[in-house]
Amino acid sequence: MFSERRRETIVSRARARRIKLLAGMTALGLCLTVTALTPEPVAAAVYREEEAAVDSGLIEAVAMTVDGVHAVTVDSEETARTILNEIRAGYLTPRTESAAFRERVELLPCLTAPEYVMAPADARALMDPENTASPVALTVLTMATVTREEAVPFATETVLIPDGYEDETSVTRAGVDGAARNTYRVIYENGREELATLTDSETVAAPVNEIVTQGALTGSRYDSRGTYIWPTTGVLTSKFGGRKISIGSSNHKGIDIGNSAGTPVVAADGGLVIFAGKNGGYGNFVAIEHDDGAVTRYAHMRKLLVEEGQRVAQGQQIGEMGRTGTATGNHLHFEILPDGETRVDPVGLLTGELQRR
Ligand SMILES: [Zn+2]
Repeated sequence: MFSERRRETIVSRARARRIKLLAGMTALGLCLTVTALTPEPVAAAVYREEEAAVDSGLIEAVAMTVDGVHAVTVDSEETARTILNEIRAGYLTPRTESAAFRERVELLPCLTAPEYVMAPADARALMDPENTASPVALTVLTMATVTREEAVPFATETVLIPDGYEDETSVTRAGVDGAARNTYRVIYENGREELATLTDSETVAAPVNEIVTQGALTGSRYDSRGTYIWPTTGVLTSKFGGRKISIGSSNHKGIDIGNSAGTPVVAADGGLVIFAGKNGGYGNFVAIEHDDGAVTRYAHMRKLLVEEGQRVAQGQQIGEMGRTGTATGNHLHFEILPDGETRVDPVGLLTGELQRR
């Protein structure tokens, strides 16, 4: 350390020449340094006076500051510049167009005691960008122009189908990504990409848009419409209600529509198939629950085309007319249960006329 007398000499000389002690330096104890207050680089000039140097035993050196904070003191400006160039060179690539430090670095001529001049390697280590523990580590910003071939995502065009439903979509033409040669101005921070700005783009291959069709109608094809259509074609052979049969009597809880075997049987309205299979005297039987809780039932079919748990649309074929179960001829026995429990005469609820075929 400096003797008290030596320190006083320097301070008084500095004051006499309107030179300030470089802030922070003495406080850090790293270097007792003086530099010019105004405006020319007076410090070196002033203390270049042989007398001063000899008197104090100090030598000329160069203090390096980083954002105003004293970092290191080295023997000469040449050494300081070499250190900075070496740090910067560590981040240069053949593509680098410019390089700079993020921090403001200043080289200040000063007088100091020889023991405070650092070896260049030590000074460099202290300012090394990878030395994250150092408060005076530098940040090297470099810039380069980089060209990359990149995918151009395809767009999707939707074509509305007037009689389709919104949940019905299909890809009619698959999309294909295009490619572009993109040029970026890239800024690297200590070699790591920080910011890329697109400056030019050249199309290599244009993307092929995907075409998707989608129904325009809201809801689903399988929603209940709240209306009932005739479930098959043929002749109404037995109405709802009491009737005489060959042995005793029966209260007929549905209607019978006769036609030839295999005549299509369709769902009177959309809904959920809650039963599809053999059901005693009903033979091959289907029950459909509609969205309002109503149930329609279809009996005696030759063949079933739906399964339990499946949703069906109004008018969708669910089976073929037959004579399974208790039936004397090919016909569809059809029931409507508006509350899901009580069978009522379907005829008043069916829209339109029964078609013969
Ligand atoms: Zn019947």
